[in-house]
Amino acid sequence: MARSFDNLFIGGSWVPTGSAFDDLNPADGSVWARVADGNAGMAVRAIESAQAAFPQWSGLTHAERAHYMLKVADEFERRREDLVAALQGEGGGWFGKGMFESGYVPGVFRAAAAMNYNPIGEVMPSDYGKVSMAMRRPMGVVTVISPWNFPTLLTARGLAFPIAAGNCVVLKPSEETPFTGGMIFAEIFEAAGVPPGVLNVVTCSRENVPTVGDVIVEHPLVKGISFTGSTPVGRVIAAKAGAHLKKCCVELGGKDALIVCDDADLDRATAAANFGSFMHQGQICMSVEKILVQEQVFDAFLSRFAERAAKLKVGDPSADKGHVIGPLINDKQAGKVREQIEDAVAKGARVVIGGGVNGRFVEPTILTGVTPDMKVYAEETFGPVVPVIPFRTDDEAIAIANDSEYGLSSGVITKDEGRGFAIASALETGMCHINCSSVNDEPHVPFGGSKSSGVGRHGGRWSTETFTETRWVTLERGGRGFPPMF
Ligand code: NAD
Repeated sequence: MARSFDNLFIGGSWVPTGSAFDDLNPADGSVWARVADGNAGMAVRAIESAQAAFPQWSGLTHAERAHYMLKVADEFERRREDLVAALQGEGGGWFGKGMFESGYVPGVFRAAAAMNYNPIGEVMPSDYGKVSMAMRRPMGVVTVISPWNFPTLLTARGLAFPIAAGNCVVLKPSEETPFTGGMIFAEIFEAAGVPPGVLNVVTCSRENVPTVGDVIVEHPLVKGISFTGSTPVGRVIAAKAGAHLKKCCVELGGKDALIVCDDADLDRATAAANFGSFMHQGQICMSVEKILVQEQVFDAFLSRFAERAAKLKVGDPSADKGHVIGPLINDKQAGKVREQIEDAVAKGARVVIGGGVNGRFVEPTILTGVTPDMKVYAEETFGPVVPVIPFRTDDEAIAIANDSEYGLSSGVITKDEGRGFAIASALETGMCHINCSSVNDEPHVPFGGSKSSGVGRHGGRWSTETFTETRWVTLERGGRGFPPMF
């Protein structure tokens, strides 16, 4: 039976909206849950509740706020089984993906708790003998807008550090994953005893996203915005935030390259390619979206990669833990992936394995013969499709990798560490992983992209810096007088 989440979580209360929308299971299209459909008025109420909670929350000691973050982490651990099932049912993810994500999230809250024990400023020298300090303080209300692909992880990453630092949050999860990206946080914050209003959750249907979205970005009480999602939406949000002179951190799409050098360990390289391209059906912002292989090892790499990928089973992840490749999140996404495959084939690409699209299920697909005029070369795919492209020299590999509007992450496989660093330093990406795939994350690292992949960094102290205001405060001790005429 479908679950029901009739209420929004505002000011520590469960507030009925009077209307609800369908939250679908992407594997079979069934209604997984009915979820409260928030509107602009509710969004304003959530912002006002966050603002009302701010003085008390920011006034707690760093240790008290850390303590709440640790309780949230423990609650997430207690709810793990439920969360894994929901990530499968609501998000269409493989069992192993659910285990990874549910295991990762408590660590985000623990890292946020640990951040609270770091210095909150610096003491600077002064020409006048003043005590001159750079001090950080929380901003107030922060809006967090999160996507559906790793809904719990990315929501946690968006809100844990700002809240630990003393801000209060209005969260709008994706309409595709309102439970795993939203309501479960409300339930867990309530169970952990976090004071009312520190976290407010406004779910809404796709129809209401533009109006609710405008309120939670433009309302004068909102001081900072954490957005994770697509580049087109991120551009709009960053522009609106800019018009209101608000701080905004946008983590957006990618077209990440994995470069396989001629000296690579091909076992490592093909495993990195397989995981990086097909984990969660390629629906990861930092998925491997083009594999560049040096021509001497191209054939050997391709046959071993195809052999590995052919073993990945496609099917409903809730029905069988062995179904590593689940459905894409919705029909629109499946249509886009199909279009990219058809466009590539029509323009001369060869399908090495896969190519089949059955409703929202897409087979792991490897393409060769891909050229810059094909959509799959330039556009983010966000599906289990990857071109393998040969290169001759490292400079050529770097040029192909950088030939993209995006610049999120990248990977380089080589036994020569110096060569790996040289390539890494030439790549126009916010992150690069030598001897690994582009898919990597840890709670305390500076996560983010260059070019059209985003502005700002999430994670650890970088989140804290983004969502606090740095002030200059001095204490005069008799060293600086005023001109005598004054
Ligand atoms: P999306 O941009 O469609 O939606 C992201 C969020 O923005 C959702 O909550 C959505 O409801 C909201 N939104 C949409 N229009 C809005 C508006 N006008 N005002 C306010 N909010 C609005 O992205 P998606 O489909 O959920 O996620 C997939 C995309 O996210 C991919 O491009 C992927 O690469 C990217 N992504 C990036 C990262 C990263 O860290 N760089 C991580 C995960 C996903």
